[in-house]
Amino acid sequence: MSTQATSAPLDKELQDEFNPFLAMAKRFDIAADHLDLDQGLRDVLRTPDRELTVSVPVLMDDKRIRVYTGYRVQHNFVLGPCKGGIRFAPDVHLDEVRALAAWMTWKCSVVGLPFGGGKGGVICDPREMSAGELERLTRRYTANIMDILGPDRDVPAPDVNTNDQTMAWIMDTYSMHVRSTQTAVVTGKPLSLGGSLGRREATGRGVMLTAREALKRLGMRPEDTKVVVQGSGNVGGIGAMLMHREGYTITSMSDQYGAIHNDKGLDVPKVLEFLAEKGRLTGFPDADEVPNASQVEIECDVLVPAAVENAITSRNVDRVKTKLIVEGANGPTTYQADKVLDERGVMVVPDILANAGGVTVSYFEWVQDRMGYFWTEEVVNSRLEQIMVRAFDEVDEVAKRYDVSLRLGAYIHAIDRVATVYRLRGTFA
Ligand code: NAD
Repeated sequence: MSTQATSAPLDKELQDEFNPFLAMAKRFDIAADHLDLDQGLRDVLRTPDRELTVSVPVLMDDKRIRVYTGYRVQHNFVLGPCKGGIRFAPDVHLDEVRALAAWMTWKCSVVGLPFGGGKGGVICDPREMSAGELERLTRRYTANIMDILGPDRDVPAPDVNTNDQTMAWIMDTYSMHVRSTQTAVVTGKPLSLGGSLGRREATGRGVMLTAREALKRLGMRPEDTKVVVQGSGNVGGIGAMLMHREGYTITSMSDQYGAIHNDKGLDVPKVLEFLAEKGRLTGFPDADEVPNASQVEIECDVLVPAAVENAITSRNVDRVKTKLIVEGANGPTTYQADKVLDERGVMVVPDILANAGGVTVSYFEWVQDRMGYFWTEEVVNSRLEQIMVRAFDEVDEVAKRYDVSLRLGAYIHAIDRVATVYRLRGTFA
């Protein structure tokens, strides 16, 4: 679990506040109460459909065998095959994989994709492994979970410390076992291997689109709007660039080393060039340096936390001065901070909606692979826009109908969709 701005041990209360599984469970319970879901259905939707733990023996470069532990959790298949990333990290834990799998069920449901949620991981430290060791680990892990994988069963994607090369190895291993090329078994692949145009920018684009829709509700215009973006990677960097192109004034950006700030606006293309060249933002001319911990406290109209979990918490929420928060990262706002923001009337576009652009274009990749026909970037972007705008409208409508925040509206909408389909399908016996 990443925690912002603290390295001291956390007391029990803060540990609970920072626990992503508890954060999701709290929001699930409130949404289920609003929907008046019966206990049986709540139990179905809370419990993962399937959890697989595998041991993964790998021949290391020094010819010794090391055994790693891998997981794949399929939270719910009611809407379709499971969808969700695979991470390689020393702190992978079954509880966390479970929570992330459930999160994916709600995210796919909120944007109306025909997928359930899944997540996987292997406990390992990729920084200490050679490319050959990582390839052998990936292939053996894939072989060990392949009975539950497949374009119609479960479709993984990259996550922490995995990338398009990892997906190419998974696709190849799966294909060799089934004796036919099955590009649709994973998404986030290289373009030459069945990847989709527009996938790299998709999450940032979704952030830009949902920010635009929220701004309309608030009666604000991009050209009068100051934006602070936490993170400069795939989501934050691309999100900031796309918002800059739409006329927003991006006043602050950050990376893991620190934040930069210029209230008159940053030249985002130059900032990203500087970052690519120097490997960090600090030192960028024409901007002040700000410690990461206080970046979210910079006064602005829109705050886009797009880096880490638990960026806005009970500890700093009182100092957050913004009108709108668009959650590019997963879980950047804690449940306790939510309540304060709600009371203060700060609009929050929740992660399961704001960053769903990525999984939406992953869905497009899966569709294109199954058709064997690839779309232009314009087609990808315009279909992404249609889906994100429709999802925003639907969540906004549900939030108004139940008189709740957009976050609860998103959970109610997502859970209701899965519950409705579950009732239609019935309980298989
Ligand atoms: P990334 O690795 O490309 O970028 C992360 C950025 O955050 C980097 O610029 C890094 O320097 C910065 N950072 C790290 N610690 C920081 C700190 N304490 N303060 C400020 N900046 C810090 O990762 P990403 O793909 O952009 O993902 C960011 C978040 O978005 C994660 O929560 C991820 O789960 C979520 N997300 C990503 C996608 C996607 O498609 N990439 C989709 C959905 C959700």
